[in-house]
Amino acid sequence: MKEFAVFWGCTIPARFPFIEKATRLVFDDLGATVHELEGHTCCPEGVLVKSNDEDAFYLVAARNLAIVERAGLDVVTPCSGCYSTFKEAESHLAADWRAREAVNARLEPEGLRFDGELRVVHLAEWLADVLGPGPVAAKVVKPLWGLRIAVHYGCHLLRPSPAVRWDDPLSPTKVEGLVAALGATVVDYPTKMQCCGGALDRVGERDASLAFARRKLLDLQAHGVDALVVVCPSCFQQFDLNQAALQRAKEDVNVPVLYLSELVALAYGHSPEEIGLEMHRVGVEPFLERWEARQADKARLAALFDVSLLAKCVNCQACKDDCPVCKIDPSFQPTEIMARLLAGELDEVLAERQLWKCLECYTCQELCHSRIGMADTFRRLKEIAIEAGLGPDQVVAAYETFVKTGLLGSARESARKKLGLEPLPARGGDLSGLLGSDDGEESR
Ligand code: SF4
Ligand code: SF4
Ligand code: SF4
Repeated sequence: MKEFAVFWGCTIPARFPFIEKATRLVFDDLGATVHELEGHTCCPEGVLVKSNDEDAFYLVAARNLAIVERAGLDVVTPCSGCYSTFKEAESHLAADWRAREAVNARLEPEGLRFDGELRVVHLAEWLADVLGPGPVAAKVVKPLWGLRIAVHYGCHLLRPSPAVRWDDPLSPTKVEGLVAALGATVVDYPTKMQCCGGALDRVGERDASLAFARRKLLDLQAHGVDALVVVCPSCFQQFDLNQAALQRAKEDVNVPVLYLSELVALAYGHSPEEIGLEMHRVGVEPFLERWEARQADKARLAALFDVSLLAKCVNCQACKDDCPVCKIDPSFQPTEIMARLLAGELDEVLAERQLWKCLECYTCQELCHSRIGMADTFRRLKEIAIEAGLGPDQVVAAYETFVKTGLLGSARESARKKLGLEPLPARGGDLSGLLGSDDGEESR
């Protein structure tokens, strides 16, 4: 499904045209053919229209979809409100043929008919399911290098199920899968599934609405996120515009907020100016500066490791509790070490003793659904630590013995003799010549 109609809704073109710009760039980059159809109205919005006139809600939703059906297309929308409206209308009119025929009788004068044969897809769904994280990641030219990103799903992308069926309505993961595919470290946080509270603002409950935003923003801040990603313009409004209101009231909140397509557009190499990021009310500069600072660190890391594998482990952590070392010594957390590497802490990791605790037992690799494992990364870390003169004394001394004697221990001939064992043939010898060094130190 690379050719479709787009439904922008009201909020994006009216309030956040920069989201429209980023979305259009991402569609182009991913080779989509997008049709703009004439005659669309508000989807309509649920709280304001449905509570006034339920029939009007279904009729207008069906009319918007009928325009797409007449063009023989499916529809993609970047607005979760519109998505939820369409899904609800589809589900209601599919289940109630009388209501559907009543709607179609009113659409007939315009030459329209709603049969529910089109596919209604949210932008996040198009990226995550129709294309998939792999093809989305394939276009990345500027990976997020482990920047800590949290996702706010909002309500209308997920619920009500079963009208909406694309991710778990209470425990979704698909947008996080996309964010991880861009190279970020996904941050889980206790209030992830809390509603943004924006709808309260629309019914005159501003204080309650701000309380929702405040609670979530403070939670995100406490979890050290670099940015929050949203998939709905109304959620964006709540966390950007209303966060700015909290800032003006001198509240200590500062979480840069990005709509999903803005993050993808940046990772695809579009500049902040091109997508109008300066139009956000809460500045995204701290996020962009952190991203730039990562480039040098990460170029160094990429020369030493496969960074995409490190990111996979950080975002997966499935084998975390199976490492035999962790079971005995919980201070050894291999996936946390992978996260620290991505966070630019290579020198700190090398200087500590934790990396030497990996037994290179390959349990993680055997259990890994993708056969990745972390033993090879720890082996490489150990090599780099030794090259930097940071190896434990025992390891350094053992290697010196190995180079000088060719052995790590002499045979206990007296004990062997007592056991009736014949003396071994001559063994060992100085390996420094073979290894290209006279003192063993330079051979490393
Ligand atoms: S749901 Fe909101 S953003 Fe979408 S069209 Fe309706 S009013 Fe506009
Ligand atoms: S290879 Fe290392 S990290 Fe993996 S399970 Fe064994 S000890 Fe743990
Ligand atoms: S080794 Fe495999 S299972 Fe373990 S954290 Fe990495 S990707 Fe996940």
